[in-house]
Amino acid sequence: MERKTIVIGNWKLHKTAKEAQEFIQALSSKVSASKAKVLLAVPFTAITKACQEAEHTNIVIGSQNISNEVKGAFTGEISSIMLKAEGADFSLIGHSERRHIFFEDDKLLNKKVLRALEDDLMAVFCIGETDEERHGGLTEKVLEKQLKEGLKNVPAQELENLVVAYEPVWAIGTGHVATPEMAEEAHKHIRKVLGTLFGKTNADKISILYGGSVKPDNIRGIIEQKNIDGALVGGASLKVDSFAQIVNLG
Ligand code: PEP
Repeated sequence: MERKTIVIGNWKLHKTAKEAQEFIQALSSKVSASKAKVLLAVPFTAITKACQEAEHTNIVIGSQNISNEVKGAFTGEISSIMLKAEGADFSLIGHSERRHIFFEDDKLLNKKVLRALEDDLMAVFCIGETDEERHGGLTEKVLEKQLKEGLKNVPAQELENLVVAYEPVWAIGTGHVATPEMAEEAHKHIRKVLGTLFGKTNADKISILYGGSVKPDNIRGIIEQKNIDGALVGGASLKVDSFAQIVNLG
């Protein structure tokens, strides 16, 4: 089964709209021949300008979060419809920083996934275990719970708009990348759980990305694994050259 390789940059709380424009301008020529799909999850305030700048390139723009609500009295929220209207094509959902710093739980994240899919926004659903959970032998159990609860009631016909990102919490922003074998073991388990939820044929079509201290010098070993279909990159996506190198090795 051929799955498209996807590399997503997650800028977190970095870059103004102007900096985003300059970045995309510099990146576009460096990744124009890339075999991997190139996505950038930018801050809300940079969505409009980033989408304009990326218009005639192979770079796809999305957000790092969405509201689970459509409209109404929800101060500070941004809806998937608003993002789509600005040109966004996807959103990260359930990044570990949203789960751990902003206390977003599986129930809320499930609403966000369903919201994104209903509004035709690709959902990049992020899961991953903490260091404590890994050392307690709970990795598979944690991943299974996050997948079962977060993807509850996702209709099979919407799966082409779903990507899963495996990001072990202990590897995010720490420089402690999972070994390719460790990552592959988790991805294999994730695909197995997706198979129980949606059937093997459907599960085989879902791209599963690895995230956690991905850099130009470790992407090769990771991407070569059978069940790893790309990467979600934080720190190394903030510099044009390192991100372009990762994309082109993907
Ligand atoms: C991330 O933010 O999703 C991430 C994986 O960060 P880093 O690459 O810096 O570990």
